Amino acid sequence: MNQGSVDGAKYEIAVLAGDGIGPEVMDAAIQVLQALQTQDPRLSLQFRYVSVGAEEYLKSGNPLPEGALRACAEADAILLGAMGLPHVRWPNGRELTPQIDLREHFQLFRGERPVYLYHDADCPLKNVQAGAIDFVVLRESTEGLFASRHQTVVPDSEVVDDLLRVSRAGSERLFHAAFELAGKRRKHVTLVDKANVLPSMVRFRQIFDEVAQQYPNIGTDRVYVDAAALFLVRRPQSFDVLVTENMFGDILSDLAAALVGGMGMAPSADIGPEVAVFQPCHGTAPDIAGRGIANPVAMILSAAMMLEWLGSASCVQAAERIRQAIARVLSDASLRTPDLGGSLTTQNMTDRILEALFASESGQ
Ligand code: ATP
Repeated sequence: MNQGSVDGAKYEIAVLAGDGIGPEVMDAAIQVLQALQTQDPRLSLQFRYVSVGAEEYLKSGNPLPEGALRACAEADAILLGAMGLPHVRWPNGRELTPQIDLREHFQLFRGERPVYLYHDADCPLKNVQAGAIDFVVLRESTEGLFASRHQTVVPDSEVVDDLLRVSRAGSERLFHAAFELAGKRRKHVTLVDKANVLPSMVRFRQIFDEVAQQYPNIGTDRVYVDAAALFLVRRPQSFDVLVTENMFGDILSDLAAALVGGMGMAPSADIGPEVAVFQPCHGTAPDIAGRGIANPVAMILSAAMMLEWLGSASCVQAAERIRQAIARVLSDASLRTPDLGGSLTTQNMTDRILEALFASESGQ
């Protein structure tokens, strides 16, 4: 639980590196956080390493043991790499998804996924300038179409239904979060739904309209999810905050990541009433795990989101310094990991970011 934002406060960070490239990108983020601490003695982060994920399941039979949940509850914030491996599954064949279990356990309803274009070369669209894509996908992360994920599928069923759950309380807290976030940005919220077809989405929109009335200074529009996919490609510059249900947010945030260079560039935060988890949007990337070539930028930007959320003056300043260092490195299009066509290793990229941090300290 976040103990408060007094400057000089000591924060305990639960570090859940996980599987695949999780530990590789986590190592990069920890190097950056340690460097910031050596530069600013007011910044005090204590890291508590917690074993979770597919490797933990192979050892103990539980990918998210009770002790890990306790450590998460006790920490001021949680940094998560990525969890799960394709060949490690529950006996019923389903993949392990402890990151989703965490969201449900701690009611991390507010899935914040900022999308920012650092360099036009990273955008697959024509004529989009750096900085022109700058929006946040706010994904409801405790209900929606994921609500039925625990149901048991009877073998050889003729019909299987998945339920899309929209609750008043779940939607209200999400929409308030969206309007508050937009209030700190460009003051516009786009509701993404499917209210032309699904009754749950009609209700979702009604609740959105009610909450919107409490924020007269924030502009709104409403788009169907299929149109949202089109508009995100056609005119991504026009969005500020997009708010949507769990599954739509899952899909659109991957599309959005592709607009700014892919999964390695997409940070996220899952924030609940008391606990918050900061992790890159990407998974464990088994295809590149162990090769030392994962892009650490999404993980390091997630660490910056964590610092900002912790909220003390030194943390907020450190978050800004990370963003500036990353912007500085990415302004040179030749400095990229292989996912973006470059040849830097994870450590090379981390070293560049560390150099940029030290350069900013010495005013270079
Ligand atoms: P999940 O279902 O957990 O989201 P996934 O297998 O669908 O996982 P990812 O693990 O995110 O998806 O991988 C999707 C693709 O993006 C893969 O080709 C992977 O190599 C690439 N990728 C993901 N993260 C990174 C990263 N940090 N650096 C480089 N490439 C990455």
